[in-house]
Amino acid sequence: MITDKLPRKNKDEYLRSDSLKAIQLPPAEPVRTHARQMEEALAREDRKAVQISATAIGVAFSGAYDIPAPKVRILGVRPREVTETSVTETFGDYDTETHKIRLWMRTAVLQKPTAFGTFLSTLCHELCHHLDVVHLDLENTYHTRGFYERAGLLYHYIRATPVRQLVWTEQKGGRYNINWPETMRGSTRAT
Ligand SMILES: [Zn+2]
Repeated sequence: MITDKLPRKNKDEYLRSDSLKAIQLPPAEPVRTHARQMEEALAREDRKAVQISATAIGVAFSGAYDIPAPKVRILGVRPREVTETSVTETFGDYDTETHKIRLWMRTAVLQKPTAFGTFLSTLCHELCHHLDVVHLDLENTYHTRGFYERAGLLYHYIRATPVRQLVWTEQKGGRYNINWPETMRGSTRAT
């Protein structure tokens, strides 16, 4: 995971997002139950049931802030873009105008169901974009260190797994990359 560059315009917004490490979390139930149902639905490749559970997670999440829930659409095989130098797969996206989340439930090459952890993590990422735009007044919803930490917090909370303190390495151009070996070696804190 890599952050966006500090933009020339909207620096204040970027820095505000970068320093915001925590968010209020929704009550544990019903989100954890919806997540378990989503895991089962994903395993049996039931797109409709995945969509119902993912939507319900979005509703419970948004209810914690009293904001409208995003629309969630579940699609089939991930779009894949191949160029001379890279292969990019889209796992999910969020439309800042229509507040719609799209998630793809199948891998591009083997067309297998996406692993549950990856799928839930993508949903949490897109829900944090929604929160940025609708609630936190972060209209450009940059991928900052704070953004990834907020999304990670939500993910581990829903899964009831310990949160890891993310360790960042600065890259050229002021971007940051998560240093996974250091992060995995580090301490965990309770959700
Ligand atoms: Zn994103």
